[in-house]
Amino acid sequence: MSSKLIKIEKNSLIPLSGVDFIGIIDRGTNIIELKPLTSCNLKCKYCFVSSGDYETNFIVDSDYLVEKVREVIEIKGHHDIEIHIAPYGEILLYEDLFDLIQSLWKLSGIKIISMQSNGLLLNPEIIDKLNEVGLTRINMSLNTLNRDVANYLCNISNYDTCKLLENITLLLKSNIDVLLAPVWFPGENDSDIEDIIHFTLNHRNQGYSEKKIQLGIQKYLVYKTGRKLKKIRPKSWDYFYAQLSCLEKRYQIKLKLGPQDFGIHKRMSIPSIRYNKGDLIRVIIVSRGRWKNECIGKINDSNGIKVLLKKPLIFSDVMIGKEFNVRILKANYRDNIITAYFPI
Ligand code: SF4
Repeated sequence: MSSKLIKIEKNSLIPLSGVDFIGIIDRGTNIIELKPLTSCNLKCKYCFVSSGDYETNFIVDSDYLVEKVREVIEIKGHHDIEIHIAPYGEILLYEDLFDLIQSLWKLSGIKIISMQSNGLLLNPEIIDKLNEVGLTRINMSLNTLNRDVANYLCNISNYDTCKLLENITLLLKSNIDVLLAPVWFPGENDSDIEDIIHFTLNHRNQGYSEKKIQLGIQKYLVYKTGRKLKKIRPKSWDYFYAQLSCLEKRYQIKLKLGPQDFGIHKRMSIPSIRYNKGDLIRVIIVSRGRWKNECIGKINDSNGIKVLLKKPLIFSDVMIGKEFNVRILKANYRDNIITAYFPI
């Protein structure tokens, strides 16, 4: 399926906060999360945001993003800021990535620039460039060292485990830290998780520090709007942590990581508008969304809103620039994301 691509620039009038899949997410800490694009090179069977088959993809202009980050740092304070680039997609598809990182470092107060990637598009040249522009850490979503399991989970037939592992070795030799972030799918990649623990410990035994190669096992979470691995029933958090404790004992490795392990602490949030579920508000529609039943609204110059269109309504370009009353479905002040629906 071919998808549309929309470039979000300053003059597009699309605000960069308030919408989950683009722009900036502020969870009230020293971390500023950036979502510069929505395209992905994979369509993983477990993807919680269903990336890889959006009808419309978005790419945010890097200058526009940097300008917004500057405003957010002004509010949070010019010290110990981490920029975490974590798109609903694959960041190595973002052409302006190196410029973005370079421009971000020019802002005062940034201590860490990290990014999430599935790693498959890495090559020695890209690693050199990421090293040159000063990327601090890459969080790699590596769920297995077994090519067949990876092919199954990522829904492809040519997952190149060898190449990925070679590139991880190159990253370890560079100034970039590596955080392996496998998702544990109970019953599906249990032994693979243990392989990744061995891999991590082997590298630490070779002299790489705990900071240089980190391991953060993630719980498989199922979201209504995401893709799901059919056979798997997600376990409770208690079960997940109990399993991690067993592995910690067995391998003498710390696996339960918390905010303090990443230097995350509370900070001022960007100002948000307080809405409650069910509130009726007036918004201007400024763009289509990723799906035909989704669009982006604007509350004011700073705050956007995701608007879901109730069946049988689907998005049409004639909606752009029009004002509508929409009803708040979800307003999450922890991360400044607001969702509404229309018609009310
Ligand atoms: S899980 Fe990550 S790599 Fe896989 S489709 Fe989703 S965004 Fe892409």
